[in-house]
Amino acid sequence: MKVGIVGSGFVGSATAYALVLQGVAREVVLVGLDRKLAQAHAEDILHATPFAHPVWVRSGWYEDLEGARVVIVAAGVAQRPGETRLRLLDRNAQVFADVVPKILKAAPEAVLLIATNPVDVMTQVAYRLSGLPPERVVGSGTILDTARFRALLAQHLLVAPRSVHAFVVGEHGDSEVLVWSSAQVGGVDLEAFAQARGRALTPDDRLRIDEGVRRAAYRIIEGKGATYYGIGAGLARLTRAILTDEKGVFTVSLFTPEVEGVEEVALSLPRILGARGVEATLYPRLNEEERQALRRSAEILKGAASALGF
Ligand code: ADP
Repeated sequence: MKVGIVGSGFVGSATAYALVLQGVAREVVLVGLDRKLAQAHAEDILHATPFAHPVWVRSGWYEDLEGARVVIVAAGVAQRPGETRLRLLDRNAQVFADVVPKILKAAPEAVLLIATNPVDVMTQVAYRLSGLPPERVVGSGTILDTARFRALLAQHLLVAPRSVHAFVVGEHGDSEVLVWSSAQVGGVDLEAFAQARGRALTPDDRLRIDEGVRRAAYRIIEGKGATYYGIGAGLARLTRAILTDEKGVFTVSLFTPEVEGVEEVALSLPRILGARGVEATLYPRLNEEERQALRRSAEILKGAASALGF
């Protein structure tokens, strides 16, 4: 099965590498404005395949995306010194205006997986530009934030992360919402589990975990300038869910008709992912504080998309 990646920078190449290591696709096509860079990444990653899985990795141009079931969009431009966030967003919207129609011409049946940041606004932009049904334009959203939340809870509770069910919803960014109130471990409410395990969560523990989730990207960017391995692995995981029609639950971003009174905004909620994209959205139980925080997050995202004209 063919997977396309448009934008062959740090995130695009890390995703191709993760697809190879996870053995998700049979063929990966890297498309990028900088063709030499795309070609170099493709060649380098192809050389990993004898040690991993038989995936044919190559660079190409849009026509080579024909037949791709999933196309990951990681194209974007970097912030210029002194540039406002909105101006940057505007330039990234222009990049999407260039790439999205070309992708759809070559691969009209593909599910688009949006990775370019700020991912929620870019998911909304891609959805509007594509004219596709919303469920086929899926943003990576808070998949990493949710993974981190589960991992930090698991660490504290001395239990495997996969047995922790907890979500981060809303924006992938400062206003994201950690849903503590409905978190569970093995079907037991978080508080009760923590007590029973002798690992009660103090307000300080909660603050530390919140900070660990919310500030992770800042710390990584401070240390190495960009984040890409984690999101690359996450995008490969989402690709697998689509290619295998898995119907797993992931907190992905999607254009949503209404959230907490805010209409037509792309953000993350737990959603079921299958062959045709998002099949259904789940609305976790929220307490009043979380509900208000989600509304604020939705308003911020809606404001940014509206300012751009999307
Ligand atoms: P990130 O860390 O988000 O991956 P990069 O700058 O490394 O950021 O990667 C973004 C990639 O997107 C670059 O390789 C750039 O060449 C590519 N790109 C920018 N504009 C376009 C475009 N219009 N079409 C295709 N690729 C593009």
